[in-house]
Amino acid sequence: MGKRDVTKVVLDEKEIPKQWYNVVADMPNRPGPHYSSRTGKPAEPQELEAIFPKSLIQQEATTERWVDIPKPVRELYHQWRPSPLYRAKGLEKLLDTPARIYYKYEGTNATGSHKLNSSLAQAYYNKEEGIKRLATETGAGQWGSALSLACSHFDLACSVYMVKVSYDQKPYRRSFMHTFGADVTASPSNKTQCGQKILEEFPDTTGSLGIAISEAVEDAATHADTNYALGSVLNHVCLHQTVIGLESKKQLEMIDEYPDIVMACCGGGSNFAGLAFPFLKDKFSGTKLRAIAVEPTACPTLTKGKFAYDYGDSVKIGPITKMYTLGHDFIPTGIHAGGLRYHGDSPIVSQLYHDGIIEAQSYAQKEVFDAAVKFARTEGIIPAPESAHAIKGAIEEALKAKEAGEGKVILFNLSGHGYFDMTAYESYFSGNIENIDYAEEDLKESLNKLPQID
Ligand SMILES: *Cc1c(COP(=O)(O)O)cnc(C)c1O
Repeated sequence: MGKRDVTKVVLDEKEIPKQWYNVVADMPNRPGPHYSSRTGKPAEPQELEAIFPKSLIQQEATTERWVDIPKPVRELYHQWRPSPLYRAKGLEKLLDTPARIYYKYEGTNATGSHKLNSSLAQAYYNKEEGIKRLATETGAGQWGSALSLACSHFDLACSVYMVKVSYDQKPYRRSFMHTFGADVTASPSNKTQCGQKILEEFPDTTGSLGIAISEAVEDAATHADTNYALGSVLNHVCLHQTVIGLESKKQLEMIDEYPDIVMACCGGGSNFAGLAFPFLKDKFSGTKLRAIAVEPTACPTLTKGKFAYDYGDSVKIGPITKMYTLGHDFIPTGIHAGGLRYHGDSPIVSQLYHDGIIEAQSYAQKEVFDAAVKFARTEGIIPAPESAHAIKGAIEEALKAKEAGEGKVILFNLSGHGYFDMTAYESYFSGNIENIDYAEEDLKESLNKLPQID
């Protein structure tokens, strides 16, 4: 085995990518353009300029294959990148599999997930264009944390609308954001018109990501010095995350490996995009490779959703996008992987799935936590409940390889750690984790409310 008999592959700092990879340049069918929810026509740049900086609007539509990473962003990447790539020796031994399992670990920065790769870039571009404040939503708290830290680096104010149920359940995520100077509001709130409207109609609601997005978009659209930032889904966010896959390729090259399978959990699709897109570049030129997005059965966007134009937010003020969707007012049950509870998916990931270039799998909550604990006990890292979906997927593939007696190479993304999710683990240990499924009826109903485009 020799070279591959490693525990951890570390790259030199000078190997941090200097450019992001844009898969749109190489994919056979490009993602559809964003539409305006106001006019029902393709969104004019001016309309998007009310909430996004020009540079990011341009990145959203670019078909250039490589996009330079601005120097100030790259300098901040140096604080924790290149991130480590591990061989999961403990897990392989437990599974007694001939497969070699590797994982890229994105939880080594202060905010504990991959999201900082994009929040730093977004804060930088907004600062460059004279913006003073960013408004955003956060579900589980990881994106709010990542944007708070990025805003503090670039001297921007930051307003976070946090889904009420997480606001109440994850007080330490709140304190984390306060530490970096952000103001955090439980959503729905009285600070925005759409929040007020929802509260009048549903005073006891625990909120949703779709509602919090509407509040943040309204805040940005109604304040000239304020823009909006989204932590996933959009093309530019997927682009920023490709540092993950670009580094992983170099790390595997160092030990003469190439994956048969790459996998990541999929909420809005950004960490999957980040790991998989640089490998898809090879697949487009003939290399054999499977790329698998793993989602929860409670929010099965790719595996059970519809490929159609839909609103990105509940109150229908943000752009309309062609994507796999469960419907903009589908509210998934309260699973612990809060970061995977979005009704839609990245338009690029959706198009690739539609074209059969990538695959998708879904798993239920309890089996995902079983996998998380197996991983923690053999690898020594407590994974985020979101990331544990990728672990579950990797374990399944490793067991299939065992049955077939094949020495497959599996690479998955460990998108973040679970050290702010110990309440969820405690529920699991006390037997209170349930396999909640979506209701077929609810899904049918929400899919009936898609906007008519074309
Ligand atoms: C937000 C989050 C996700 C889901 O978002 P994607 O855009 O699908 O990557 C996954 N894992 C962690 C740790 C997260 O914080």
